[in-house]
Amino acid sequence: MTAFTGPVFRPGDDGYDDERAGFNLTVDHHPELVVGATGPDDVIAAVDYATTRGLAVAVLTTGHGPALPADGQVLVNTRRMDEVRVDPAARTAHVGGGVRWQQVLPRTAPHGLAPLNGSSPNVGVVGYTLGGGVGPLGRSYGYAADRVRRVDMVTADGRLRQVTADSEPELFWAVRGGKGNFGVVVGLEFELVPVARLYGGALFFPAEAAADVLHAWARWAPTVPEEMSSSVLMLQFPPLPQIPEPIRGRYIACVRFAHTGTAEEGERLVRPLRDAGRPILDTLGELPYAQVGTIYNDPTEPAPAYDSNSSLHTLDEAAVDAILSQVGPEAGSPLVMELRQLGGAYTRAPAIPSAVGGRDAAYALFAAALLRPGQEDAVRGAHDALHEALSPWATGGSTFNFAGVHDAAPERVRRAFTPADYTRLAKAKAVYDPDNVFRINHNIPPG
Ligand SMILES: Cc1cc2nc3c(=O)[nH]c(=O)nc-3n(C[C@H](O)[C@H](O)[C@H](O)COP(=O)(O)OP(=O)(O)OC[C@H]3O[C@@H](n4cnc5c(N)ncnc54)[C@H](O)[C@@H]3O)c2cc1C
Repeated sequence: MTAFTGPVFRPGDDGYDDERAGFNLTVDHHPELVVGATGPDDVIAAVDYATTRGLAVAVLTTGHGPALPADGQVLVNTRRMDEVRVDPAARTAHVGGGVRWQQVLPRTAPHGLAPLNGSSPNVGVVGYTLGGGVGPLGRSYGYAADRVRRVDMVTADGRLRQVTADSEPELFWAVRGGKGNFGVVVGLEFELVPVARLYGGALFFPAEAAADVLHAWARWAPTVPEEMSSSVLMLQFPPLPQIPEPIRGRYIACVRFAHTGTAEEGERLVRPLRDAGRPILDTLGELPYAQVGTIYNDPTEPAPAYDSNSSLHTLDEAAVDAILSQVGPEAGSPLVMELRQLGGAYTRAPAIPSAVGGRDAAYALFAAALLRPGQEDAVRGAHDALHEALSPWATGGSTFNFAGVHDAAPERVRRAFTPADYTRLAKAKAVYDPDNVFRINHNIPPG
C-alpha cells in the first residue's frame, strides 16, 4: 500500500461520506479511495496508487463545479492544503490547492488589495481561477487565470512541477483555462489588484417588473464603463424562512452591481435601472471589498443543482423576449437564470497568453435547477429549450467555469475554446496526461 501522510478513506470507513461530499449534490461520488491530501507527497502517492491500478484521479475541493461521479476511482480531497500567504509589496498571493476565496479575502483586505475572485466566497480558488474566473472586478481587470504567476502541480507521471511561463510554457498556457485536465494543483501564485472598496449591491424587482427590468438592463449594459460589472438573475424564490420576507416565495428579477468607481458615479450609473421598476429590496451602497460576497449572496447550503451555460454576442429586444418566454414569470420554468455582462477587460488578450476561451462573448448565460427525483427529464428539457431559444444570439461558445453537469460531455466542453485552442489543449493533454488519468472533470481528451 502506498504511504499517505493524510487520512485515506474506503467505502464503509468512518469519515468516507464526509470526505466525498461536495456542494453540488447532483454528483454523488463513490470512489474506491478518498485521499485527504495534506501536501504534494499525498497527491503524488494518490496519483501513483491510481496509475498503477489503471484508475482515474478526480479532485474535490468544494464540489461547486463537478461534472461526473468518481465512482470506483481515486478522489483527492484538497481541503487540508489550506495555506494562504500574501506578499503586499509584490502584490501577490500564494495559496494551497484547497483554499476557498473566503480564506483569501480577509488576508488581502488589510493591504488594500483584492484577488479576482467570483461571486461566491465559498468557491475554491484553484478550480475557479484555472477555469477562467469571471468576477465582480472582471470587466476592469479581466480573467483571474490571466493573473496567475505560478502553478505548483502534480502531473499524471507523478511529478511535482513548478509551472511558470519560463519553466513549462506550454503547460502554463494550457492549465490557465484548461482547469483540472492537466494535474492536481497543490499551490497557486497570482497577482492582486489595488481595490479596497466597491459601490455595489442588488436591486430586487417583483414579477410584474421583470420584463421592463430585463429590457432596461439589456439597453443599459452596453453603455456603462468597464468599472461597472453587473448581472441579472431571474428566479422563483422558495418559501424558506431564511429568505428575507419581501422576496420569500416570490418570483424576482435581481440586478447585481459592482462598481469600482466612486459611490456618486455608481449612484448615477444605476439610476436607469432603479427607474425601470419599483425595487422591493435595495442593498446598494459602499462596501469594503472583503464583503463582496454580499452583493450576490450565493447559496451556501449544499443542494442538487443541474446546471448549464452558453455565451451570447448580443442582447437585443428579441433576445430578451426569448429569455422571458423561457424563464420569465409566466414561464413556470424550473430554471434559475443568470446573465452576466462580459466585455471590457475580458476581451483583451493577456500579456502571457492563456487557454481561456470565450473572449468574444458579450454575455454569459447560466442556468440551474434543483434536480428532484422524477424531474430529471423536465429539467434537462428546460435547459435545452432555453439554449435553443437563445441560439440566434449565441456565439456557439461557452464560459468554461460555468460548465455545469449538463455540459459534461466532451463535445459541450469543446465549445468553451476556439477550435485552434481546443486542438492545442488536446495536444498538451496528450503530452502531459496521455492516458487521461484526469478525466473525471469537464474533460479534454488527449488528441
Ligand atoms: C454558487 C456558485 C457560484 C459561482 N460563481 C462563479 C463566478 O462568479 N465566476 C466564475 O467564474 N465561476 C463561478 N462558479 C463556478 C466555479 O468557479 C467552478 O465551478 C469551479 O470549478 C469551482 O471550483 P471548486 O474547487 O470550488 O469546485 P470543485 O467541484 O471542487 O472543483 C471543480 C473542478 O475544478 C478543478 N479543481 C478544483 N480544485 C483543483 C485543484 N486543486 N487541482 C486541480 N483541479 C482542481 C477540478 O477539475 C474539479 O473537478 C460558481 C459556482 C457556483 C456553484
